[in-house]
Amino acid sequence: MSANFANKLIITPPFYIKEPSTKCGYCHGKKDNTSDFISIAEENHNNCTIGLHSENMTIKQYDTLCNNNFRRSGTFLYKVDNLRNCCRLNTIRTSPNSFKLTKEFKKTIKRFAKFIEAPPIVNTSFDELICNLTNSKDFNFIFTKPDFSKEKFELFKRFQDSIHNDHDSTESGFKRFLCDNPFHNTLSYSQLNQLNNWQKNSNFKVAPYFGTIHECYYYKDNLIALAVLDIMPSGISSVYFIYDPDYKHYSLGKLSAIHELALTKRFGLDWYYMGYYIHDCIKMCYKSAYGQAELLDLKTHAYIPLDDITYNDRNKLFTYEKGSTINQAPIFYNNLNGTIIAEADESATILEEEYGIQCPPDDAFNEGVHNSLPRVVPGLIDLKDMLESLEREEELAPSLILYDSDNGRLRIYGGIDREGDELNLVAFNLKRLGMEDSIVII
Ligand SMILES: [Zn+2]
Repeated sequence: MSANFANKLIITPPFYIKEPSTKCGYCHGKKDNTSDFISIAEENHNNCTIGLHSENMTIKQYDTLCNNNFRRSGTFLYKVDNLRNCCRLNTIRTSPNSFKLTKEFKKTIKRFAKFIEAPPIVNTSFDELICNLTNSKDFNFIFTKPDFSKEKFELFKRFQDSIHNDHDSTESGFKRFLCDNPFHNTLSYSQLNQLNNWQKNSNFKVAPYFGTIHECYYYKDNLIALAVLDIMPSGISSVYFIYDPDYKHYSLGKLSAIHELALTKRFGLDWYYMGYYIHDCIKMCYKSAYGQAELLDLKTHAYIPLDDITYNDRNKLFTYEKGSTINQAPIFYNNLNGTIIAEADESATILEEEYGIQCPPDDAFNEGVHNSLPRVVPGLIDLKDMLESLEREEELAPSLILYDSDNGRLRIYGGIDREGDELNLVAFNLKRLGMEDSIVII
């Protein structure tokens, strides 16, 4: 067994959390009436998430997971069960190539440039316009390690208080949410230097650094905004953005998105990831305004231009008409008369009888935390395919390593015939999630 685990995904077993939709951070269970909900559940709308804690992963592994509808909050990695959740969350991305400076965006940059007294420039590209902001003697963007500082925390506290009405911010909460990350990348002085001189380099051959970074916006030596970014091989992912409420008038959120698109372009990266998109969440509409935005299709992992996705007026679901499986609930539950569900039920019975793998039906999932995952979840490997693989006598997770935290010992997962039901379920669920090549802490 190799002693070098730096490139290994080190995680806890995945779990399934079912909570009332009042816990949903997007709708807070406040959608007006049941027809506004787009989950399959008719009456009880829930907040359903698959999550796990990650101790270590490479930025490349996270990139793959991001393009599989995962997001992270600190070291907590999660994806929503889009079939049962009150809100449907799909990864949204755009590219700097498709981004056009609209009148509104131009106005935003101009207004801020005027405020910080940046020298005026005309008729140029959006990244040049953003670069020009740093020609103000009073304003600068400064990259730092994603470390805690009192200054950052005070900004966070003011932002949460004023913008999110959240008055319980703590230093440890800030650190867990916006500083902690599973990448453990070291940022060298030379990398930091290159990052901080990005505007002088019109096109890097390769991004100067991959990993989590804080970008601080300073005006007259005061921290007025902070962007938390994951710089990944396929693009820049915006983790969070906070700003001083006193500067609300300057639309710093908009400015930061244009700025991050400029960075994506200068770093020679393809995509700018804006987190999740929820079509019926007003707060998310702005995300569709930056160039040609695309949504991740959970099943095929292809991206579909937002413009090609159409709304179904009757039940407010949106579907892609050319046979995509984006937001699949109507296909699962209506169009195919439940064939997919019936197939999964049949496979679940055999999996339990022959292999001791428990995949309970939906009504077995009460509110709380579960070791099992539901039978049908968009984006996970189907139970039918899992069963067929076992019937072909393929090994379930041949590269899975188990770390026993009680005795500090590592061992290779022995396969479905030699391990107990509990560990087999962990291996099974990790495989469904595409995470079987990992070290799992048991
Ligand atoms: Zn919701």
